[in-house]
Amino acid sequence: MFPQPDARGRYGMYGGRYVPETLIPALDELTDAYREARADPAFEARLTEILRDAVGRPSNLTLAENLSRDLGGMRVWLKREDLNHTGAHKINNTVGQVLLAKRMGKTRIIAETGAGQHGVATATAAAMFGLPCVVYMGEEDVRRQALNVFRMKLLGAEVVPVTSGTRTLKDATNEAIRDWVTNVRSTFYVIGSVVGPHPYPMMVRDFQAVIGMETMDQLEERIGRRVPDAVVACVGGGSNAIGIFAPFAYLPEGQRPRLIGVEAAGHGLESGAHAASISSGKRGVLHGALMYLLSSDDGQITPAHSVSAGLDYPGVGPEHSFYADEGIAEYVAVDDASALRAFRHLAEVEGIIPALETSHAFAYLETLAGELGADADVVVNLSGRGDKDVNEAMRVLGDLAGLDAARSESVS
Ligand SMILES: *Cc1c(COP(=O)(O)O)cnc(C)c1O
Repeated sequence: MFPQPDARGRYGMYGGRYVPETLIPALDELTDAYREARADPAFEARLTEILRDAVGRPSNLTLAENLSRDLGGMRVWLKREDLNHTGAHKINNTVGQVLLAKRMGKTRIIAETGAGQHGVATATAAAMFGLPCVVYMGEEDVRRQALNVFRMKLLGAEVVPVTSGTRTLKDATNEAIRDWVTNVRSTFYVIGSVVGPHPYPMMVRDFQAVIGMETMDQLEERIGRRVPDAVVACVGGGSNAIGIFAPFAYLPEGQRPRLIGVEAAGHGLESGAHAASISSGKRGVLHGALMYLLSSDDGQITPAHSVSAGLDYPGVGPEHSFYADEGIAEYVAVDDASALRAFRHLAEVEGIIPALETSHAFAYLETLAGELGADADVVVNLSGRGDKDVNEAMRVLGDLAGLDAARSESVS
């Protein structure tokens, strides 16, 4: 496995456990059970089997020839997490955690979700392992994400609308923690990104690191070297990015590829309506850990904005916060309009409709091609497919289609 956080669950100054005292024994139990599981070949074998048979791993590594041509020859490789069961990387983590829950003898799964994607991935894993599942979701999000709510219900989960506060993700998180404190003996709390108190950021990273490890093997087979020139991934909480970065991040300096995390700049960093926690945030505590986050001058968490629901999170995992300070990875931000252009472009030239989250990573490739030139291999983590975003894209791109028409008229 990868270098561990210190005994207190810290990556440098980040991470830790900023939680009620009553949760410490549960987090200790989880940490011990997790370490024990990872040292057990039977657990590893079962996880590998599930990832192969039910998730569809290894996911393909596709050379995007047309996109590469458009970028002046820089070779762009796509790590196809969009081809996983349920269409994104999130399932890698939820099957890992639910398998651990089973092993620990837990009989009930809980989760919180904002846009619903983690809720769907958790409900899927719970159904696979035959465990009841409760998903907390802010009432406002329940209204906005009706389709995902219905999916979770189809998968047998109970969706509990949370009516406190702003009725969004942070309120759902508080409710999930309250449930966990109350039912800690029977219940496993599945967290969806590399956030939360230790050991969650470490555990989620390890479950997602299969992405980076496969990429290394696949590159060796395809180009004869395990390390590309750059790896690019979008960053919300940071799990798909850590998943593909982690195996490269601990290579000695000089052997490490450029690791580029792309945050959502929303309407622009100056607008205040964005989700760029590293590029434009401060240090603070969110969901039980110290990290970069979006906050007002008096320390209140401020709402994030992005056209992509999965990047719309006001913090970023502690390990990314550490990578940023240490210069292990670089973090940039791409706005809504650029992401939408990249979304269309990939669909047109490669026949792949990417998730709006992932489109942020694609939008950065033009800049990168300018820096690296034609003789470079770059891997993009294609974190998910865009089918879920087609409605939203139609709403916003409806205007763009109009613009296209107006432009071609004025030319003719
Ligand atoms: C949830 C999601 C993200 C953002 O979450 P991370 O933890 O930052 O990976 C990115 N892409 C897709 C497709 C998602 O579903």
